[in-house]
Amino acid sequence: MKMSSTQMQFDVEQIRKDFPILQRKVNGKDLVYFDNAATSQTPQQVIDCIVDYYQNYNANIHRGVHSLSQEATDAYEQAREKIRAHFNADKAHEIIFTSGTTHAINLVASGYSSILKAGDEIIVSALEHHSNIVPWQMLCEKTGATLKVIPMEFDGKLNMDKYQDLLNTNTKLVFVNHVSNALGTINPIEFIIEKAHEVNAKVLIDGAQAAPHIQADVQALDVDFYTVSAHKICGPTGVGILYGKESLLTFLPPYQGGGEMIDQVSFEKTTYAGLPHKFEAGTPNISGGIAFGAALDYMHHIGFEQIAQYENELLVYATNELNTLDNIIIYGTKPSEKTAVLSFNFEGIHAYDVGTILDKLGIAVRTGHHCAQPIMEYYKIPGTIRASFAFYNTKQEIDSFINALKKAQQMLQ
Ligand SMILES: *Cc1c(COP(=O)(O)O)cnc(C)c1O
Repeated sequence: MKMSSTQMQFDVEQIRKDFPILQRKVNGKDLVYFDNAATSQTPQQVIDCIVDYYQNYNANIHRGVHSLSQEATDAYEQAREKIRAHFNADKAHEIIFTSGTTHAINLVASGYSSILKAGDEIIVSALEHHSNIVPWQMLCEKTGATLKVIPMEFDGKLNMDKYQDLLNTNTKLVFVNHVSNALGTINPIEFIIEKAHEVNAKVLIDGAQAAPHIQADVQALDVDFYTVSAHKICGPTGVGILYGKESLLTFLPPYQGGGEMIDQVSFEKTTYAGLPHKFEAGTPNISGGIAFGAALDYMHHIGFEQIAQYENELLVYATNELNTLDNIIIYGTKPSEKTAVLSFNFEGIHAYDVGTILDKLGIAVRTGHHCAQPIMEYYKIPGTIRASFAFYNTKQEIDSFINALKKAQQMLQ
């Protein structure tokens, strides 16, 4: 790929200097952090942004007339605008700050609990994170609606023929993740959204795992709801967003009652504030919201296309290296059809035992079901070893990882 002169040259050693945690040792070894699908690391620029808030303008927002409150409000609303621009939402008030993806999904599910009725149908996919399964099960229990599941195939993809068979005029909502956190599969969300709209169903796309790798354009996708957690995209924990089309957010009832979300309150009747405040009861994570904006600035400074291209190089390299090991089973799609996630096992060895040995060698991977037990049931395994890469990882780190895996295999066989 040719780089335009405005984009910075991708220099991983330079980028690594932005992440203080990457300098530390774990169990006496250099840290190799391959658990980016669980949470990403935080660059100094984002840490500085949080410190700056608490040192210089910590105040509650949207309330005070005093200067600190106005500065904090401005910074928070500027962050909302950055997020709007990043996802190309039409209006800033279509971006609702939440504590993360789980909160965002529950907000929508709760809204629909007074709208759905018995006989309505909800479709989810077999590749979902528990946070995109359980709220819908709870919604079905409350409303009498039924949950249908788009099945997965052995290669880690969703079966789109079966999806089309599930759609009918009773389908009210469809929920699919953009990228599977357990396998990295990039789902065909354009097709999923288009087909759902043909039967007038609304679509929520869980973008938690996609956001660090793919810049979604919510208007081009014509998606109804899209959710993101800041902590997977170099931001802090405890903050995220729900994007929703204005018409739908206006139509949904509020989620939580409290301060900030009202227009007028009396004991006879309370009227709600307009968007986005209707869904933002209480004091939010102010520094978190501002730092989410700083994280997006940081990612754009590097460039999403460069990030995706470099991470794919890492993935291809690691896949080839992993395939040279004995008794390896890799789950999921080809590297060209997924983000930088490798989910695998060694025949006859428990994932947890491998993870424990890797940790002793300073290497952080995830082992287990990755909050996606239905996928593990499909493969009839208790879990996998998951290595997930970010743009600050290197081929040398992958070499250390492969050597560590060889050691683990020798010890456990
Ligand atoms: C991480 C993740 C979630 C949950 O996000 P939280 O930040 O824990 O709310 C949901 N879905 C997917 C695909 C994820 O990767």
